[in-house]
Amino acid sequence: MAESEAPRRIDHDNYPDSYIKDILSSVRTIAVVGASQKWTRPSYFMAKYLQGKGYRIVPVNPGLADQEILGEKVYASLKDIPFDVDMVDIFRNSEAAGPIAEEAVEIGAKVVWMQLGVRNDAGAEAAEKAGLKVVMNRCPKIEFSRLYGELSWHGFDSNVISSKRRAVGTPGAEEAENPKAAPQKRAGFETRAIHAGAAPDPTTGARSTPIYQTTAYVFDDADHAASLFNLQTFGNIYSRLSNPTTAVLEERIASLEGGRGTTCTASGHSAQMLALFPLMQPGDFLVASTRLYGGSITQFGKTFKKFGWNCTFVDVDDLDAVRKAVDDPKCKALFAESLANPGGVISDIEALSEIAHGAGVPLIIDNTMATPYLCRPIEYGADLVVHSTTKFLSGHGNAMGGAVVDSGKFDWGQNDKFPSLAEPEPAYHGISFWESFGDLAFTTYGHAVGLRDLGPTMAPMNAYLTITGIETLPLRMERHVANAAKVAAYLDKHPAVSWVSYAGLESSRYHALARKYLPGGAGSVFTFGVKGGYAAGQRIVENVELLSHLANIGDTRSLILHPASTTHRQLTEEQRAAAGAGDDVMRISVGLETADDIIADLDQALG
Ligand code: PLP
Repeated sequence: MAESEAPRRIDHDNYPDSYIKDILSSVRTIAVVGASQKWTRPSYFMAKYLQGKGYRIVPVNPGLADQEILGEKVYASLKDIPFDVDMVDIFRNSEAAGPIAEEAVEIGAKVVWMQLGVRNDAGAEAAEKAGLKVVMNRCPKIEFSRLYGELSWHGFDSNVISSKRRAVGTPGAEEAENPKAAPQKRAGFETRAIHAGAAPDPTTGARSTPIYQTTAYVFDDADHAASLFNLQTFGNIYSRLSNPTTAVLEERIASLEGGRGTTCTASGHSAQMLALFPLMQPGDFLVASTRLYGGSITQFGKTFKKFGWNCTFVDVDDLDAVRKAVDDPKCKALFAESLANPGGVISDIEALSEIAHGAGVPLIIDNTMATPYLCRPIEYGADLVVHSTTKFLSGHGNAMGGAVVDSGKFDWGQNDKFPSLAEPEPAYHGISFWESFGDLAFTTYGHAVGLRDLGPTMAPMNAYLTITGIETLPLRMERHVANAAKVAAYLDKHPAVSWVSYAGLESSRYHALARKYLPGGAGSVFTFGVKGGYAAGQRIVENVELLSHLANIGDTRSLILHPASTTHRQLTEEQRAAAGAGDDVMRISVGLETADDIIADLDQALG
């Protein structure tokens, strides 16, 4: 064999899609070691799903020998199976997986597959030496659905980008690719902003994502319907839970943030509710930054109290105070904004994540103002990211929306704080989401329980507008940042302006954090102080001609607001000051117009 053809050992931390596809398209008979008869168990889910895709499932479990699972006879061990088996799928612990891999070699199997959470490198090496292919710490159901176009129904990042129509749920003849291929290189941010989640429509070939304006979806037959309701197969039931247009947006946002999956919602506020819903029980609390969007302070501090969810607000610049506040069994999350609205303030995400993880709780970052183009909180240790997609992601001031992105990295079973995810969930037939779905658990819960039972679903039309908006996110953010830098520099020198709080200015106390977390620019929303206080602030918003006086940010148009008399007026004077929304504060969201025109309008209004 020429040296270049020598088999290269596969990287078990980073399988090329072609390697997994080659396995899934070549095997037909799969022995499931550790198969269960209970339909709520992960092995049953997986077996039922793959059986539906045409694979023969052979259950192996000594305790159930000679009984039946899914119409197939159960064998006590691999060696008892009287016919050839292509693949052995192991639902046992990592230690037990070694001897089973060796047995798989002995019975002549071609593939050893260890489930999510199962890894035995010695067993893998022995099997590979005997010429078998090995996959560890993966679920074939998830891989099949990811690679054959089904996973996106719940907004998971498939990491598949293609301009070809995909035949959903069927491995094709083209799948036997070179298994020795190098690990895949992830497509660039700009490419993902345009393509992630959006292959051409499988039936019509439509290249722009269609608006699936439908409330419900037909079932193939009674068993398909039952499997969908049991979460044993991927697909749509009813648009309160999932919708194909919204799923494209969900996958796109997950991809851009570097998350595992996303649940989109009707607004940014409902995204915050859905992010907390799986974590909080009545009597629990979260710790949140004092510097949040005013609506979030009211939502956390007042409205969520009616659910029995409490909130302790802390200045997140004071890390000792944060550490103290989260150190409580009833604390379930730490929440901050990457770039805070309205203040031009930046959170030290890495430090906050370390504190949150020390207390066994997730760090949730509202990344609305930065967008994933400027800051990706998951790269710095955030576990969940929330968005008001109403702002820069949709970008044109024409569609409300929200998103909850799960990094897929938080271990929901590490303590007893998160029973909704880690224990049998009474709202879903006693399924344990963490055990059944692994790193897809949070996003699956978000749809199957959160959206199903609370109902704040994004409209498909709004998903379509937001998908279209995101296509130009990189270009827009670059221009937003360039214009904001010019406007901030102008205001910084204006005699009627007492201060400018823009982390892009070198004089800002957050400048060093901005360089670390937002190297591409500190966004385009910031605050400045007017001499003359409350009354002067109100006069400016009345005098602007080009800038729009309204309560929104992240539009193509430049927007201006006096927070003390509008978004933050429900807060006490103390809370307003702590949130960076005192009487003299003006908030500006710099748009994409000619920078000189924005400056000229501010000049006449300030004059
Ligand atoms: N988070 C931030 C930073 C916001 O600016 C907003 C809205 O202004 C929200 C959340 C709430 O989003 P929505 O208005 O889409 O409900």
